[in-house]
Amino acid sequence: MLAYIGLGSNLADPQQQVRTAIDDISAITETSLLAQSSLYHSPPMGPQDQPDYINAVVAVETALSPHALLDALQQIEQKHGRIRKRHWGERTLDLDILLYADKVIEDERLTVPHPGIAERAFVVYPLAEIAPALQIPGHGSLATIKANCPPEGIEPLENKQS
Ligand code: ATP
Ligand code: CA
Ligand code: CA
Repeated sequence: MLAYIGLGSNLADPQQQVRTAIDDISAITETSLLAQSSLYHSPPMGPQDQPDYINAVVAVETALSPHALLDALQQIEQKHGRIRKRHWGERTLDLDILLYADKVIEDERLTVPHPGIAERAFVVYPLAEIAPALQIPGHGSLATIKANCPPEGIEPLENKQS
């Protein structure tokens, strides 16, 4: 199954957190990395008294179920020392399942497509970089979403590494 994962960090060397998290994602069992966006610098969502974020989006091919993929991603967040302080607060690493094939999931652990997928510039722009022709269940074409999504201060980093 093709899945898209959003990454974010604003603590403890965020660029390094995101780069090593991409390596960790490519090491998940039955999962391989297909594509990765540039890294983006973004202002925080929610509480403004926290550092700016580094965000990126990756595409993976996975044989894991959506819940097994979430388990693996939450293990990686833990390995990166994530501590929950406050809603939308600072974190060493956040990994969200943005899309899982064309599935729509709504249960106590998972909402897919991710609820922020069509509104957050730090998701829309990196996602459009690796999947410009994407159709998002319930939201239509990513190209149209992007055309209506102001960049909100996000900036691609110049020193993209692959
Ligand atoms: P947001 O979800 O608005 O981006 P957040 O990433 O800060 O906020 P977290 O504290 O990381 O929220 O996650 C809270 C819970 O969200 C997780 O424990 C997980 O069960 C649930 N969740 C629901 N849908 C998803 C999804 N698509 N990807 C990741 N987690 C999800
Ligand atoms: Ca998130
Ligand atoms: Ca999350």
